[in-house]
Amino acid sequence: MAITQLSSLVGGEWLSGEMNGVDRNPTRPEVVVAEVSFGDADLMTQAVTRAQEAFAGWRDTPAPARGEILRKAADLLEARADEVGRGLASEEGKALAESIGETRRAVAVLRYFAAQTLEPDGETYPSANAATFLYARREPLGVVGIITPWNFPIAIPAWKIAPALAYGNSVVWKPATIVPLTAVHLATALRDAGLPPGVLNLVLGRGSLVGDVLVSHPAVAALSFTGSNEIGRKLQVAAVQHGKKVQLELGGKNPAVVLRDANLDHAAEQVARGAFLSTGQKCTATSRVIVDRSVFDDFARRLARVATSWPVGDPLDPATKVGPLSSEEQFETVTSYLDIARKDGAEVLAGGESDRPEGGYFVPPTVLVGLPQESRAVREEIFGPVAALLPVDSYEEAVAVANDTPFGLSAGVFTTDLASALRFARDVRAGIVKINDETAGVEFQVPFGGMKGSSSGSREQGKAAREFFTEWKTVYVNPCG
Ligand code: NAP
Repeated sequence: MAITQLSSLVGGEWLSGEMNGVDRNPTRPEVVVAEVSFGDADLMTQAVTRAQEAFAGWRDTPAPARGEILRKAADLLEARADEVGRGLASEEGKALAESIGETRRAVAVLRYFAAQTLEPDGETYPSANAATFLYARREPLGVVGIITPWNFPIAIPAWKIAPALAYGNSVVWKPATIVPLTAVHLATALRDAGLPPGVLNLVLGRGSLVGDVLVSHPAVAALSFTGSNEIGRKLQVAAVQHGKKVQLELGGKNPAVVLRDANLDHAAEQVARGAFLSTGQKCTATSRVIVDRSVFDDFARRLARVATSWPVGDPLDPATKVGPLSSEEQFETVTSYLDIARKDGAEVLAGGESDRPEGGYFVPPTVLVGLPQESRAVREEIFGPVAALLPVDSYEEAVAVANDTPFGLSAGVFTTDLASALRFARDVRAGIVKINDETAGVEFQVPFGGMKGSSSGSREQGKAAREFFTEWKTVYVNPCG
């Protein structure tokens, strides 16, 4: 079978270059999904130049025509969704149904932002001068740098790239190193849909080698980053020093609170979905489950039962619900947190032991009890299928524990009392609140993002995306000259 070869898309051309890297399958790391030509800082500079050259033409393309290209890209991606989803499952490890589902989410996001190109792009105002026509409109920023993580390798790029393009920006996109195939699929759909050369440039390359250009190049107006706090904050400082607009979406340590009046079976099912789907590798994943002491043991038993019932295995097997972790680095990180948890006195009610058939990076859904609130396994983002259960004695204590974290991305509450649900929605410091629902799983037409350490304060998706990818221009028209 011919091996797929992947390279960067710059100025509308797929570059030919030395195949100097490989894309591995985390289920069987010996299996090479593709060979990859990774670029360097020079390639990134070239990509920024091409994006700069393409900007004016794209900005001046009527917005509905830009939307038409996004709509066509959505159609192409939809027709290829099964193939793209299989590729995603092969290189990232997400279960096939979720991988295809994520691809379809990217399709929906492209369509949503295509439709946004028909929405009003400004406002008129009454002027103090009777002769003056006064209006303000949102204009694109210019060249936008986009850096994305591996855990949603098509949905997150789509929800950044689609609004960037819809509102008239040109883009230089650096995806995570371990998911180049999915990145190439998305760029291919946009190119095949007729996106002019240079409007979207895809640079495959390690962040540590190519990232500096994006944060320092004078032609880059803005940077939208999703990833870890460690890298994001570093890039933010550098980009702000170079005068760029910056958007960060970072990590989470998301709480789900189970009150004494909750439907425990429903809560266990939803907490399991939040904690274990995508092998727990979601910024919105549930990792702290704060449970009223009166129902703690009962709930813990039910959650452990759900956790152990979920099939773990090859993501391409339709029966699999939990695939492997995405890389060796991820495997090392998650298993080291399990070691920390054991040292800190955790009792393991489900999972806990890694499994490496054919070298794959498997950790099953894991339920921990008995951890102190100050354990690193409770305080730090693990980014794996691990839920720590913490008992509390009151609503007030539940909220205090939920908020006792530097993060603030998503939070959930399980209760049959509407007043408690709405009180929690007000009291918890999180950008997203779910009532009787998993902390993960969001819709694209509403604002998405975190409070506190989980973001830079901006929001993605929905109409909120326009805030970041455009800026106001106010025009005073005096027809008398
Ligand atoms: P990461 O290690 O921070 O990497 C994110 C991106 O930054 C990758 O493309 C990476 O490229 C790049 N990068 C690394 N070093 C760089 C540098 N010096 N300059 C420029 N770019 C650089 O994060 P990850 O492991 O991919 O993703 C997991 C994290 O993302 C978790 O913390 C998770 O919570 C967070 N996340 C947040 C959200 C949200 O919306 N809030 C959504 C999903 C994930 P390489 O792959 O080449 O290193």
